[in-house]
Amino acid sequence: TQQEPPPHVAIVATPGMGHLIPLVELAKRLVVHHNFLVTFLIPTDGSPIKPQQAVLQDLTNAISSIFLPPVSIEDLPEDVKVLTRIELTLTRSLPALRDSFKVLAESTRLVALVVDLFGSSAFDVAKEFGVPSYVFFTSTAMLLSLMFYLPELDGTYSCEYGDLPEPVKLPGCVPIHGSDLSEAFQDRKNEAYKGILHIAKRFPLAVGIMVNSFLDLEPGSFKAMMEGKEGRPPLYPIGPLVQSGPDHGVDDSECLRWLDKQPHSSVLFVSFGSGGTLSHEQLHELALGLEKSGQRFLWVVRSPHEKAANAAYFSEQSIKDPFPFLPEGFLERTKGVGLVVPSWAPQVQILKHASTGGFLSHCGWNSTLESIVHGVPLIAWPLYAEQRMNSVLLADDLKVALRVKVNDKGLVGHKDIANYARGVIKGEEGKLLKSKMKEVKNAAERALSQEGLSTKSLAEVAQIWKSSKEK
Ligand code: UDP
Repeated sequence: TQQEPPPHVAIVATPGMGHLIPLVELAKRLVVHHNFLVTFLIPTDGSPIKPQQAVLQDLTNAISSIFLPPVSIEDLPEDVKVLTRIELTLTRSLPALRDSFKVLAESTRLVALVVDLFGSSAFDVAKEFGVPSYVFFTSTAMLLSLMFYLPELDGTYSCEYGDLPEPVKLPGCVPIHGSDLSEAFQDRKNEAYKGILHIAKRFPLAVGIMVNSFLDLEPGSFKAMMEGKEGRPPLYPIGPLVQSGPDHGVDDSECLRWLDKQPHSSVLFVSFGSGGTLSHEQLHELALGLEKSGQRFLWVVRSPHEKAANAAYFSEQSIKDPFPFLPEGFLERTKGVGLVVPSWAPQVQILKHASTGGFLSHCGWNSTLESIVHGVPLIAWPLYAEQRMNSVLLADDLKVALRVKVNDKGLVGHKDIANYARGVIKGEEGKLLKSKMKEVKNAAERALSQEGLSTKSLAEVAQIWKSSKEK
């Protein structure tokens, strides 16, 4: 008898390394544990695709990728929000996506479409070919809960959420101030808000939603959503899925060799994700703070940007050499105590390294999960997207992070920075954070163990896909 062809999943990754990286981890698991074939379909707006390619290379033959023809977004105003740019890149790519999807649907046993948290516009393509759509929500259950709640919130209030006198109470979550909600929720007249509302309204059309989090990390939000309303797609907590393999593209040996020479748990790692940038003044404060703290540090520095906190989002490498922007003499004075690397570092290997004792992070969800998996307590310094929400979860709920305070000049001051750095690396607070983080790390390990809930949830999804009829 003829063998059934292997089940095939198409994954659409919207622009942003923070989306692609966890989707690739999902793909690897589907291949290794469940014998799937996976094809990535990647819309782009013509920004450099090298970092994406780097993440996609050296994968098994079972995972292939197609970069869709770049779409033009030149008509967009210069101050367009990242979310709008992401959304339009996808919607303008839909015709090309349909063509590629058609080929897959006709030539393979295509059992599902998976999109990330911004990809719900692609559902219609899958529907046309009778393929079920799933979301891999590459952020928190808390944000997902907000997405479900958003249409109601939108209908109830007419003011800006930041002006609400009371914190927003999402079912099962810590109360959160309107001003701490994701960036896209802050200006309701902006296209980005309309975009997120549109995306949120389509979530109920998904057949299932996987979440890159785990039940023990956010039990309140998960339980409230799972017990929640009828007509909502089933939820599958399958995380934390984080990068494991060697990093991509850069000569990383210098940082790791430097870390090898530092004492156990003594180094503060400082990095603002793939896109985070600070103003020149803030960069100065940070440099002075690190210097004053007297603690060892490893800092991934980018050249400053005055207008946007996510100026490097679509380019990853900072455009200019960042070193001239540092305070005069900083590099010489901190030599031996600190190491400063431009633009990009092998973050996962750094967090894994025994010398790393703390992480000053922008709280992007992947960075957060990587810190959790490696048991590193955080200084939470949110910049954009949903990072404020993540910092509330980390500092107020899980108590594994110190959250930075912004002064009346809109800056995090150098004295405070020095205190946070000392606090996390050698203070009493640091010990508490560390022991809490250890508990969370253990819970993450349990979730991903063979009998763990996240492992089982993914197996359940895989089983549903596998048992879908051959076409
Ligand atoms: N990353 C890295 N080196 C860097 C900066 C970022 O390897 O110098 C990786 C990091 O490990 C994480 C991802 O890029 O996996 C960033 O995702 P995250 O969700 O933390 O933030 P985003 O970049 O989406 O804001």
